[in-house]
Amino acid sequence: MKAKQNRTDSFGKISTVDYNQLQAALSDAQNIVITTHRSPDGDAIGSSLALAGFLKPKQKNVTVIVPDPFPNFLEWMEGATDIVVFESQKEAAEDAIETADVIFSLDYNRFDRVAAMGEVLKSRSCTKVMIDHHIDPDRSYDLILSDTSASSTAELVYRCAKEMNWLDHLNRPIAEALYAGIMTDTGSFKFSSTSAETHRIAAHLMEAGLVPEVVHQRIFDTNSYDRLQLLGYALSKKMDYDAARKVCIIALSLSEKNRFRYQKGDTEGLVNYGLSINGSKMAVFVSEELGGTKFSFRSKGDVNVNEIARAYFNGGGHKNAAGGRVEMKIKDAINYLKDVIENKLEF
Ligand code: 5GP
Ligand code: MN
Repeated sequence: MKAKQNRTDSFGKISTVDYNQLQAALSDAQNIVITTHRSPDGDAIGSSLALAGFLKPKQKNVTVIVPDPFPNFLEWMEGATDIVVFESQKEAAEDAIETADVIFSLDYNRFDRVAAMGEVLKSRSCTKVMIDHHIDPDRSYDLILSDTSASSTAELVYRCAKEMNWLDHLNRPIAEALYAGIMTDTGSFKFSSTSAETHRIAAHLMEAGLVPEVVHQRIFDTNSYDRLQLLGYALSKKMDYDAARKVCIIALSLSEKNRFRYQKGDTEGLVNYGLSINGSKMAVFVSEELGGTKFSFRSKGDVNVNEIARAYFNGGGHKNAAGGRVEMKIKDAINYLKDVIENKLEF
């Protein structure tokens, strides 16, 4: 175990974590809560369940709490059925948070990313630990393992496990959860965040019993008929490509999603089609939800969607993948987006 790690990541932010302090906090702890962000994705659920898997042999009460439901295609992971959903199981979630000795924040770095749960977490004075790879972490946490150059939070959970000497507990279910997180956040090992280290970790996970094909099938080959119909509709009828600016917008209203019996996760990855157009610089998926509209941004090269999401869409994320939300109905949200693209940004 190293005493203290100081690293300057590619964005010049200092991330510190003291593994001895983490060890001390965990040895004293009986109740551990692991939380992750709203609209949990493969990395959110995978990293959380993997961390829970590493902590369970230590005879601790470990509770994984998510702000709102996660997609069905992540339900196969070990421990997924025990996840507490704050939105629908408020009492159980609040009880666990109230009695927690250590609270982990995984795959998010600010309490405003976890909706109403953020206020409850903020009010607790127990040890708070962040493991995350998004830009600009909230410095009020006690321990921060933040590295924006890491492919995924799952990769950071692996790094943490290595430093803490937990890798003896690495088994197939933990390896599958970590692999799911890495695979989904790297677009199946194709995004620029994929490093030699990412592949070295994947190799170790295979040695622990992981079969990549199996995880890939469970996540990507579980489409419903309705989901594919919605995808076809979105691509053939709703794609708006600005060839001059090389920006692609795909927008879906609530009523369009309902027409295809939309389930959480059905539009996951849709935005990437917009970016796969030859020469496309930025793609935006605009999705109407109850009470507002969500944006998913993807970009190539120097187009910094994190900055765009922060400046205009109450959001953030990474340089080439970010998200945000506005309290507008779909029509106004699209007009607002177009106004920003045409008048505020340079393409
Ligand atoms: P997605 O488009 O897949 O929802 O999100 C892309 C990336 O942006 C993810 O890393 C996600 O954590 C981040 N992100 C998405 N929505 C928001 C948001 O509302 N606020 C912030 N800060 N980040 C977001
Ligand atoms: Mn992530």
